[in-house]
Amino acid sequence: MPPVPAANAPGPDLGADIVIVGGGFAGLACALELGGSGIDVLLIDARNHNLFQPLLYQVATAALSPADIAEPIRRTLGRHRNLRVLLGRVTGVDVPARALRLADGRRVGFGQLVLAAGSDYNYFGHDDWRPHAPGLKTVHGARLIRQRLLLGFEKAEHLPDPDARRDLLTTVIVGGGPTGVEMAGAVSELGRFLIGRDFRGLFPDDLRVLLVEAGPRILAGFPERLARYAEDTLHEESVEIWTDSTVEAVGEGFVSIGGRQVPAGCVIWAAGVKAAPLAQWLGVEPGEAGRLPVGPDLAVPGHPGIWAIGDAALATGEDGKPLPALAQVARQQGRHLGRALRRQARGGPPPGPFRFRNRGNTAVIGRGAAVFDFGRWQMTGRIAWYLWALVHVWLLVNFEKRLLVSLQWAMRYATRQRSARLIDETADPAMPATTDPEETGPPQAGAARAQTPPRRRIWMA
Ligand SMILES: Cc1cc2nc3c(=O)[nH]c(=O)nc-3n(C[C@H](O)[C@H](O)[C@H](O)COP(=O)(O)OP(=O)(O)OC[C@H]3O[C@@H](n4cnc5c(N)ncnc54)[C@H](O)[C@@H]3O)c2cc1C
Repeated sequence: MPPVPAANAPGPDLGADIVIVGGGFAGLACALELGGSGIDVLLIDARNHNLFQPLLYQVATAALSPADIAEPIRRTLGRHRNLRVLLGRVTGVDVPARALRLADGRRVGFGQLVLAAGSDYNYFGHDDWRPHAPGLKTVHGARLIRQRLLLGFEKAEHLPDPDARRDLLTTVIVGGGPTGVEMAGAVSELGRFLIGRDFRGLFPDDLRVLLVEAGPRILAGFPERLARYAEDTLHEESVEIWTDSTVEAVGEGFVSIGGRQVPAGCVIWAAGVKAAPLAQWLGVEPGEAGRLPVGPDLAVPGHPGIWAIGDAALATGEDGKPLPALAQVARQQGRHLGRALRRQARGGPPPGPFRFRNRGNTAVIGRGAAVFDFGRWQMTGRIAWYLWALVHVWLLVNFEKRLLVSLQWAMRYATRQRSARLIDETADPAMPATTDPEETGPPQAGAARAQTPPRRRIWMA
């Protein structure tokens, strides 16, 4: 193992034999395999928690709380004395000096480097759309979406104009992949439950959920039969699906799609991802979606002792096609590399080729409805849904989370209730939905504030 360059490690704890960037599925799995090995390992992450992204849509639709699916990285790694954690954002790699640059100016020396910084949503050159159409990548994004959805119901109930009510209760989801499909089903389920049970002044017709996909069909990565099942199920849930439809603009309270401006109270971005900028850090040519090309052993060609795993790495499968950006790929790669580095440190051979074992591809559509694709055979409906639930519970980071999520799901299945319907005080529920007196009617006593802020404030809440 190459030694840590002491000259580039300005503090005694800023440097390690193995430095891992990213504590997501890939980085955490790699670190856990190295736990107890005696190798000095430092894991750096820009946030203090590991996040189970596949269930973020349930946080956004108030079915789960953030803490049900996020776990402090220090807690997970704390039992292994050789694993250290550093909260910090990596901004680049000084390759000749074998050191990482951090956003706060610190430098971290490394002997071997494992890059596992994941991916982010791709707004295809329109980053100004991001505040109007948050994506499901972080706890912050999920809470913002939850806030907009729940506040929309509160505001809409007091709007006498049915068109204004419907505009506010319109949710547009951009991207018809698994995340978009899951979100569309969950928003529709949440809305119908709220209108049916808790909001006296709203009607089922006020709710509109629109799933927009640029391609010819939703769930493009799944067989056509499963996509058709998902489409039929979503139609039963009153979700509108617009395929072959490109989003041209997103602004405060609207989305422009194929020349039509659609007013919307909540816009959610679920269209395509781009990898963390690892290729730029190393000065190499990025591959598809900005991913960093790696060899069969997950090593970055031409950079000895530097590895890349997870969403940010472009590895190919046995069929020569790029491995998908999925949690199961990231986790298997992390485990493979962690074990291999551990063996190598004990004088074993260098890491061998990684082989991905596909455990099936799945998406949930609604209560009791999911699709599962195992390649040779497929599954839809309630059995697929049970299997989806089992797999997701099993993949959670520890027993406590598995228990918490299982209990919440059992309660929700029995009662349809959602326990996390919280609106932050910062959202200011006293804010009006509109300033147009013709729409709002005469001001109510004690509602003087309700006249001042402009209408567009509601979209930003
Ligand atoms: C909404 C959603 C639903 C999904 N559903 C599924 C599913 O059902 N099944 C499935 O298999 N996959 C699913 N995925 C994909 C899956 O979550 C990813 O493939 C997986 O998270 C990739 O793991 P990773 O470790 O590469 O990256 P991540 O899990 O994203 O972790 C990357 C880590 O790196 C950190 N980081 C990033 N940049 C820096 C930096 N510069 N400095 C320091 N730290 C940094 C981040 O904070 C993060 O903790 C879903 C993804 C999303 C967003």
